[in-house]
Amino acid sequence: MTPPGARGLYDLTRAELGEALGDEPGYRVDQLWEGMYAQMRSLEELTNVPKGLRQRLADAYPNTLRPTTQSVSDNGDTLKVLWELADGATVETVLMHYPQQGGRTTVCVSSQAGCAMGCSFCATGQAGFERHLSTGEMVEQVIGAHRIGRSRSGSGSTSSGSTNSGSTISGNRVSGNRVSNIVFMGMGEPMANFDPTWEAVRRLHDDVGIGARHITISTVGLVPGIRRLAEADLPVNLAVSLHAADDDLRNELVPINRRWPLEVLMEACEQYFSATRRRISFEWALISDVNDRFEDADRLVPLARRLSAHVNLIPLNPTPGYEVRGSSRNRVHAFARRLTDAGVNVTIRDTRGSDIDAACGQLRAGHEATAVRAPRRLS
Ligand code: SAH
Ligand code: SF4
Repeated sequence: MTPPGARGLYDLTRAELGEALGDEPGYRVDQLWEGMYAQMRSLEELTNVPKGLRQRLADAYPNTLRPTTQSVSDNGDTLKVLWELADGATVETVLMHYPQQGGRTTVCVSSQAGCAMGCSFCATGQAGFERHLSTGEMVEQVIGAHRIGRSRSGSGSTSSGSTNSGSTISGNRVSGNRVSNIVFMGMGEPMANFDPTWEAVRRLHDDVGIGARHITISTVGLVPGIRRLAEADLPVNLAVSLHAADDDLRNELVPINRRWPLEVLMEACEQYFSATRRRISFEWALISDVNDRFEDADRLVPLARRLSAHVNLIPLNPTPGYEVRGSSRNRVHAFARRLTDAGVNVTIRDTRGSDIDAACGQLRAGHEATAVRAPRRLS
């Protein structure tokens, strides 16, 4: 068997898995690959493969995600998992079931441990950058979250030791449905870790079987990444975290705007839209008295119309390091109406899992962050 190196089992390509199996008959790699990805099963569950072989693989590739905390909210429709990686770094994954929308199940994946982008309102940004995640660490989040969901719903066999050991559990049932959608909206900036993220997209598409139109990459606005996505060979969805439609405010909320200001960002979005004909979404976390006034909506209208973009509004989730609150329900609805009246498509996103801190980096954030000053209000 090939020496393991630092990589985990889910980091292996199919060819590398074949090499790792050595003299085993050729169909073994198909059995394992199909079982691990299309069926999302643990090695333990792949009983059609000899036990000795599975054990050798588990010994050679021990690096796997270990769940340290699991919590369930929204009447069992949201599951949040905090994983510890082989080197002790921690990342989180959220699985959301939408019974009203045809039983869709979405997994929100982290692409980095921490994030270097420093957005003031974001718990991950407040904690800083630790390291990039590998392709395997991203794919395994999806498979591991699905397996935990399945075992908790009682709709499948129990998950393997690697997804159960030593975790704290709260809440009850969660969906065991098949994962239908993936969003790269967990911790980290996927475009700053482009190649491993794209490999993860390919694996989820080609081998797990999730359609490109059901995969979304969210970026804070890294223009080179958007340009690469425009030329990529799978038409995945692009979400751009805009939050402000003028450079002064955006520089404060999203510091990377100083590097790629709004006009440069909009040009890259146009390139993506004309190359793919995929409609972009603009994410907008509504922050009370900072970006939730009618003037803010009015500045957003021409940008959204120029790109035929869909605007997703979400009231800011409070984080320990940011002293400003999310907008009130009334303000969220008034802001949405202002946009729709001007012909912009808008969705108000639900604050899934807010009682279990299921926003970007919050489960991990703890209380060590110190509060930063609120951005200056533009008049
Ligand atoms: N780095 C990428 C993807 C991860 S963040 C990006 O920024 O797009 C995923 C989404 O969560 C982004 O739209 C981000 O702006 C948003 N977000 C971060 N902190 C938030 C908070 N406290 N409340 C609401 N949304 C938040
Ligand atoms: Fe990073 Fe996105 Fe958080 Fe900004 S919002 S700090 S880009 S994870």
